[in-house]
Amino acid sequence: MVKPIVDEGTPEQRWRAWPAMSAWPPLALDPAEPPLVVAPHPDDEILGVAGLMAMLGRADLVAVTDGEASHPHSTVHSPTELAAIRRAETTEALSRLGLRGTAVHRLGQPDGDIHESIVTKELTALLTPGRWCLSTWREDGHPDHEAVGRAAAAACAATGARLLEYPIWTWHWAAPGDPAVPWHRARRIELTAEARFAKAAAIAAFPSQIAALGPAEADAAILPPHVLARFTRPFEVVFT
Ligand SMILES: [Zn+2]
Repeated sequence: MVKPIVDEGTPEQRWRAWPAMSAWPPLALDPAEPPLVVAPHPDDEILGVAGLMAMLGRADLVAVTDGEASHPHSTVHSPTELAAIRRAETTEALSRLGLRGTAVHRLGQPDGDIHESIVTKELTALLTPGRWCLSTWREDGHPDHEAVGRAAAAACAATGARLLEYPIWTWHWAAPGDPAVPWHRARRIELTAEARFAKAAAIAAFPSQIAALGPAEADAAILPPHVLARFTRPFEVVFT
């Protein structure tokens, strides 16, 4: 169900103070082939699983949209310009993760109006039995994240691929122990120091999202420091 993403959200200190997080089982990092990482918008894959991608040293990416709607009333950039900027940011982020050989499948779906059936078809063509498919969680609270999550789930069901869902906006609207979140399916990915460093560098490759485009309110940062704080943990979380 789509949740309102408003206000400051749950502070990272509250999450870090929640003892259950440290008790979640580790995810065994044993994929037989490069995982397929699916991003509704450029940066979702980095915020969610950049550390995992860096540690595996290989991953292919599906960029569902180019994120052209991040600043719909920008006084600085047109949607077309934003799409080009964000595509380039993804390329730079992958490079900073040491993933220069990554195949990037760009679906060119409209930001904010993803056609779920088309995404399902595209993912089904890329997945094989047992291949890992990392996607935003089906109930992450953002319509695009949920559409992509449902498409990934359907494609995994059709192909026998392994679905792993990463939460993004869940950390904003949910609170520790929130019954709307399947915490029993949570698995931890402990990041090495190198992976944390690479992830931080990759996040910094998205100035269009982590900094203001300009002084107008319509050009404010999408990912201000209190939001980014949730993605600088020494571990990542997926739902199996
Ligand atoms: Zn997103």
